[in-house]
Amino acid sequence: MPTIDELLSLIESMIGPTARKVFKYLMETGEEASDEAIANALELKVNDVRRALYSLSEYGFVSYRRVRDKNSGWYIYYWRINVEDINSILLVRKREILRKLKERLEYEESNSFYYCPIDGTRYTFEEAFENGFTCPRCGAELVFIDNDRIKHVLVNKIRKLQEELERESKIQSS
Ligand SMILES: [Zn+2]
Repeated sequence: MPTIDELLSLIESMIGPTARKVFKYLMETGEEASDEAIANALELKVNDVRRALYSLSEYGFVSYRRVRDKNSGWYIYYWRINVEDINSILLVRKREILRKLKERLEYEESNSFYYCPIDGTRYTFEEAFENGFTCPRCGAELVFIDNDRIKHVLVNKIRKLQEELERESKIQSS
């Protein structure tokens, strides 16, 4: 299972810092709240809070209940965290990350690389070859890089993520 901090960082990277604050607030209170109440509690602009809530609901992190205010006739939205859906969102997200890591590993495995010692730019063998093994930006002679370390890091990350996914799918299906 992901930790709360991992979940909050994920929300921040996917949607933004306001969404993180709003989600954290809903999580900590454990109750539904209107967008105005959230904005007041967090001292944020109602419009910013609303925008964050709509994005959060698009991803399935929160959902709302709509009630018509008898006096004004306007709708009031009450927001709450979608506890049931969050685990499946995280699983989908992790599978995406895993797929990208595997693609990256394949790229690292199927290419050899050169870099420019002056500006640090990295080139594939084909790019280096086309430029006569000199940097097209500064003309310096390109140096072969051993990417074993990168590959090693990728392999470890992939293995860890695969283990996590296996564990979590078991929990969800049991
Ligand atoms: Zn260069």
